[in-house]
Amino acid sequence: MNPSHFLLRFYLLFVIGSGLLACDKAPVQESIVDDPHSYARPEEARVQHLSLDLSVDFDKGVLAGTATLELARAQGAKQVILDTRGLDIQQVWISNDGQAMIPATHRLGPTDSIMGATLAVELSPNTRFVRIAYATEPGAEALQFLPPALTSGSQPFLLTQSQAILARTWIPIQDSPGIRFTYDAKVRVPKGLMALMSAENPVARREDGVYTFKMSQPVPAYLLALAVGDIEFAPLGPRSGVYAEPSVLEAAKYELAEVEEMIDIAEALYGPYRWERYDVIILPPSFPFGGMENPRLTFATPTILAGDRSLVSLIAHELAHSWSGNLVTNATWNDFWLNEGFTVYFEYRIMEGLKGRGYSEMLAHLSYQDLLEEVADIGPDHADTHLALQLEGRNPDDGMTSIAYDKGYYFLRRIEETVGREAFDAFLRSYFDRYAFKTMTTTGFLQILDQELLQKHPEAAETVQIDAWVYGPGIPDQAPVAQSTRFDLVEDAVAAWIVGVSPTDLKTEEWSSHEWIHFIRSLPDSIGTEKMAALDAAFAFTRSTNSEVQARWYARAIREQYTEAYPAIRRFLTRVGRRKFLTPLYRALIETGQRDLALDIYREARSHYHPISVQSIDELLDWPV
Ligand SMILES: [Zn+2]
Repeated sequence: MNPSHFLLRFYLLFVIGSGLLACDKAPVQESIVDDPHSYARPEEARVQHLSLDLSVDFDKGVLAGTATLELARAQGAKQVILDTRGLDIQQVWISNDGQAMIPATHRLGPTDSIMGATLAVELSPNTRFVRIAYATEPGAEALQFLPPALTSGSQPFLLTQSQAILARTWIPIQDSPGIRFTYDAKVRVPKGLMALMSAENPVARREDGVYTFKMSQPVPAYLLALAVGDIEFAPLGPRSGVYAEPSVLEAAKYELAEVEEMIDIAEALYGPYRWERYDVIILPPSFPFGGMENPRLTFATPTILAGDRSLVSLIAHELAHSWSGNLVTNATWNDFWLNEGFTVYFEYRIMEGLKGRGYSEMLAHLSYQDLLEEVADIGPDHADTHLALQLEGRNPDDGMTSIAYDKGYYFLRRIEETVGREAFDAFLRSYFDRYAFKTMTTTGFLQILDQELLQKHPEAAETVQIDAWVYGPGIPDQAPVAQSTRFDLVEDAVAAWIVGVSPTDLKTEEWSSHEWIHFIRSLPDSIGTEKMAALDAAFAFTRSTNSEVQARWYARAIREQYTEAYPAIRRFLTRVGRRKFLTPLYRALIETGQRDLALDIYREARSHYHPISVQSIDELLDWPV
């Protein structure tokens, strides 16, 4: 990080519009907030449309081609600044009309390890287009090229992950959540494979391996996405469907059968779904996240395929992002809770509509436990437990903790419980309508909250303790409490087991995976391997195929040194690359003096993981890189 970069910048709200040439493709943004994680200077020249023309080379593990950017620019702007990281920039042209291209003067700045390097392109007085011929570097962080052995079939696979600031490792672009643009793309892939993007997508393979895409709704760079592989499509409803490798498609179709109903529930809550289609792609197991809300095409981990639809709240979450995040977008990564806290709140409301309050309260309860663990982990007084973050000079991934998700959720629930659900729902619905396709800062949101809601409920303004939630550490007093009678029964069962009731006599027949997670979590510390074996004999936790149950049980098994589970743990860690599962298991191994085992498993597993997961686990294990 180059600190002078920040000294030179002003954290001001730029009101633009009058100074920019009119653009007819994207809605004009009212304001652009300076983003500490982008070099772009959108007040001078801003990308409003991107045209990609790329070839995917699986042998070299690179993408190569051109990116053509259509600009809106201020009078007299002499250059456009783009974000890049590790890109091989081969040639740059400018054009007034998008047709006649003239070679342009350009300069690649020094590389910062987090931010990458600026690409400054000189503009002529009437330049409206910039074209860049480039290639990605092997190992580009947004790209994961998987050999057939790491997929569910016999073909290789490519997937991208652009959030938070990795779009710049595969496209030269203004990589800030505050800058939206429309895009189109032509992508060439090896014959027999299908390509998909966060755009209008094909439902069948093309003989020639050439795919074209169009995204008419403006999106920020972190929502650019590409997947290439042996992929097939199955419809789920009139505007929804699922893509997956052939061997996974049937299971995916079964698991996601409720998607269309989820969309209906979401629309009834907070207004129309504005992205036309909602499809999901089930990726190979090394995908580092649970899901990624790429517009029109959620990227999802196969670890949600539990066979009983018990983990589909993850899909409700990604669907909810179609409003919170993709429609109203955090202006910078310091405001990440505006994306995630709202989405968790919306997710639980969708799940309440789908399965009832008793179900969604289990989710809320688990969320609170995650929050307690995260606060203890980060430190109860640490500034990273504030909702409003200060990530300047740091990797924005540092802010992607459950604070944004779960503390954000409990803050919004606190407001809901104070003003009443009816008033809060009306507020949220109009918020999504008014700020659709715009960006939002934390202070901007708090102003809107005050004007549109709290001034009508003056008693609530004091009760909610906004400053403590947003700018204070830890969990404020009087946080809402999830009322889960189903979890009360689980705790009764644990208590009965502690005083000697046999596991097989506990009333567990009706339990969902959430009850099982809570059961494992509620067991007392250090129960010993004998009791672990007895529970395992009764409930077959080690052999579970539910990833959430596996992750909890395996962490417990490591802490108890219950070695019967170790072969299963090794299989899990070498197959699954979802960071949320990896980190606690490796950490448990280190904290219990089993570092050699952790290193031994990681040696085998590391090449299966996405660079995002690799980075986290390298750090955790002090892996020599
Ligand atoms: Zn999310």
